[in-house]
Amino acid sequence: MTFERAKPAGPVEIRRRGLMLVLSSPSGAGKTTISRRLLGIETSLVLSISATTRPMRPGEKDGADYQFVDHATFDRMIAESAFLEYAKVFDHQYGTPRAPVEQWLAAGRDVLFDIDWQGTQQLAQATRDDLVSVFILPPSIATLEQRLKTRAQDSADVVARRMAKAADEMSHWAEYDYIIVNDDLETSIQRVRAILLAERLKRHRQIGLAEFVKGLREGA
Ligand code: 5GP
Repeated sequence: MTFERAKPAGPVEIRRRGLMLVLSSPSGAGKTTISRRLLGIETSLVLSISATTRPMRPGEKDGADYQFVDHATFDRMIAESAFLEYAKVFDHQYGTPRAPVEQWLAAGRDVLFDIDWQGTQQLAQATRDDLVSVFILPPSIATLEQRLKTRAQDSADVVARRMAKAADEMSHWAEYDYIIVNDDLETSIQRVRAILLAERLKRHRQIGLAEFVKGLREGA
């Protein structure tokens, strides 16, 4: 009796697990502008919308910028393990809801996080392989202060406190995979896109590669 080797039906599909792209920076370094532009260009990228106890700023929308919740709701979400990470920033609580992120990653979507260094450390511990972290630095302290002032949504007191906090935030730069000095918005966007492209091609993110190559070697 002879056995014929089964031929694969055709090329095996290579799929990809989504990645978690974290952008952190001191307030005013341009992170929010870069995030918005990226989301407009990169169609497979979705934004993780954090929950926060901070009051809504003019122009912000509940459910789009943040999920604005009261302290009791935030505490309940902590108790229910509904957050992937959470932290206190500027007297307010911020947290990343777990469920949507897990669904998006499993579906091969990339998720963008606008979170601080505390949240990034927690995500790194929980999900090391999925995480790509980028820290955005301002080109100078004068530029940072100018950007905070022209934003004009916060009181002078808040601006002063954010400036004081910036030095502390920036001290965490070495915990990130990539560093971008945001002296030109378009260049910074291109740089984040280059990071995304390279990270998407990483071998460990491509599912089915071994079968695909086996198929190639067998002439499928
Ligand atoms: P803002 O109040 O200016 O929107 O945000 C203040 C800081 O909180 C920013 O550095 C922002 O990245 C951070 N932040 C926003 N959402 C989250 C979150 O879900 N988790 C953590 N750890 N930080 C967050």
